[in-house]
Amino acid sequence: MESSIQDFIRGVAAGNVPREDAIAWLREVYSEGLSLAETAELTLAMADSGERLSWPDSGGDLVDKHSTGGVGDKVSLVLAPLWAEMGFRVPMLSGRGLGITGGTLDKLEAIPGFRTDLDAGRLREVLESTGCFINGQTASLAPADRVLYALRNETDTIDSIPLITSSILSKKLAEGTGRLVMDVKHGSGAFMKTKNQAHALGESICKTGEQAGLVVDVHLTLMDQPLGLAVGNSLEVEEAMNILKGDGPEDLVDLVARLSGDEAGAREVLGSGAAFERFEHMVLAQGGNLDAPFEGGGCEEIFLMASMSGRIQRLDAFRIGQAVFTLGAGRKEEGDTVHPGVGIRFLAKEGDPVVAGEPWAVLLHAGRGVEEAEILAQAALEVG
Ligand code: URA
Repeated sequence: MESSIQDFIRGVAAGNVPREDAIAWLREVYSEGLSLAETAELTLAMADSGERLSWPDSGGDLVDKHSTGGVGDKVSLVLAPLWAEMGFRVPMLSGRGLGITGGTLDKLEAIPGFRTDLDAGRLREVLESTGCFINGQTASLAPADRVLYALRNETDTIDSIPLITSSILSKKLAEGTGRLVMDVKHGSGAFMKTKNQAHALGESICKTGEQAGLVVDVHLTLMDQPLGLAVGNSLEVEEAMNILKGDGPEDLVDLVARLSGDEAGAREVLGSGAAFERFEHMVLAQGGNLDAPFEGGGCEEIFLMASMSGRIQRLDAFRIGQAVFTLGAGRKEEGDTVHPGVGIRFLAKEGDPVVAGEPWAVLLHAGRGVEEAEILAQAALEVG
């Protein structure tokens, strides 16, 4: 495998590897795994499959955060402008939805005009003027990940430690961050279902990063119930904007503050609303228009009723992720269009009381997959 990795990745980025061969390769890695040395070689080959951004004037102020994927996880939308407001520069290359987990790029594209495909020159200008950007892989930035990421989504070869490690770190090496805060999720709504698996993934990312000269700070966090009170692309942008204005659900604010590395400082900046202004600048610099209504408006609402009274014992992130995916928030194949407006808004979460016949959540739909999504969402709820 080792000797062929670089040639294979070069071919993938150049579009010279037939789709069936790339899928066969992904399936082999998925089932056989890779050694740490092979994972490092793959990561570097993927990072070098395009241009690498460099920031020669950096005085250690470059930082980024990445999550291994969850349900309702809109932390990146908050942390990038928050860190920028705290004096760091955040060159963030993110991804689209993978499986049932949401993608930062899909969320941001709910904002009319928001561009996630800016070229290196424009990204330099945006970082210079606003202190942060959130962009996708492009034809010249981590192009091999752009291809393999979409193929992994289509072929169910996502939850593989070497493939996740190389996917994430190739983007981080290409963007040129100096430090990386990794949020490694475990639980029903994560790719790593157990804490042991998450630990192994965290170790792989940390050691591979170290070999590539990247300092990685790993946090293992639980993803058994969705984060915050909203799941779905535009709903999550709205919730992130509320947090940036100093008003957000406590579980999310806690996680953002913890990952920021300066809990008190982060809470103070969030409370001041200054990070929201930073977000507005970033959106404007990336072509977005916050004065226009979000894409995908006009969804219909259905109230989800509790069938018994009591306290919520469990709100299963996996089933909620499946429900929102079924409504059209994610994609099965690369060309599928994602609906920006569909999703679920929670009126109660684990530990909260609910009353029989009263609503515990609101489902927003555009006519697709409604019955199945309702069944999945109701099956996510355990009241005791
Ligand atoms: N995020 C990524 O960028 N890649 C993965 O494989 C999983 C999460």
